[in-house]
Amino acid sequence: MQFKQQKSFRVVIYFLYLVVFFFLFPSSFVLAIDHFSQVLIDPGHGGIDTGGTSGKRTSYYLVEKELTLDVARRLAHELRKSGLKVILTRTGDRYVDLDERVNLANRLGKGTILVSIHFDALSNRHARGIKTYFWHANSFGLATRIQRSLVKITGEKDLGVIRRRLRLTRNPTIPAVLCECGFMTNPYENKLLASASYRNTLAVAISRGILEEKRLGDFGIAPVAEIWAPLSKASDSPRHAHHKKIKRKKTVKKLEA
Ligand SMILES: [Zn+2]
Repeated sequence: MQFKQQKSFRVVIYFLYLVVFFFLFPSSFVLAIDHFSQVLIDPGHGGIDTGGTSGKRTSYYLVEKELTLDVARRLAHELRKSGLKVILTRTGDRYVDLDERVNLANRLGKGTILVSIHFDALSNRHARGIKTYFWHANSFGLATRIQRSLVKITGEKDLGVIRRRLRLTRNPTIPAVLCECGFMTNPYENKLLASASYRNTLAVAISRGILEEKRLGDFGIAPVAEIWAPLSKASDSPRHAHHKKIKRKKTVKKLEA
């Protein structure tokens, strides 16, 4: 009887160890990102939603929705060359609601990852650099590899991998990241972003990050804990808190091909 009690006591202790370990290192139970063969590329904004603009003080008048579509198309080309299947949330200048983009991601489901492309605009012209947002633990490796690749290849200022509960990072059921690929309002980055070859460099950098994650999964990536949070809603924050609205004064210059 005593032996039986000791045994069940030991089982309880082991179980408690396991529970404690799980809470301390939840990601060690998820060895790697689910294998994926398809990338849903999301060019930010579109249609009536222009996103940010560079404003009139910069050398080139840039509109975020045009930059995002351009880089998305280039990224799609890079990924298809490497044998990945690619879907875009929009292929033209069309308004697509954020929830619609999330629904598409969730309909595609397992085997797909979501990469959203954006650019920053701030009235502070000194602000510059690149950052990548994620929310779920399963997206941290992908965000890390894309961010590293972007910073390495462009040599731009590293604003880091940032955990933020956005509709596009929190709500998808698949791994999802959002890249802010530079400031249209910064004089230096404004000139870079106006050049087709630099936009191509951005696409190549993002594709390398994605391909590295496909090859290695989360191997070598420090684990992060999953954090529960309610779904992100449109009413959570004023529309696009990361974009200062700048009045559109000049006519839009077409991007060079
Ligand atoms: Zn944006």
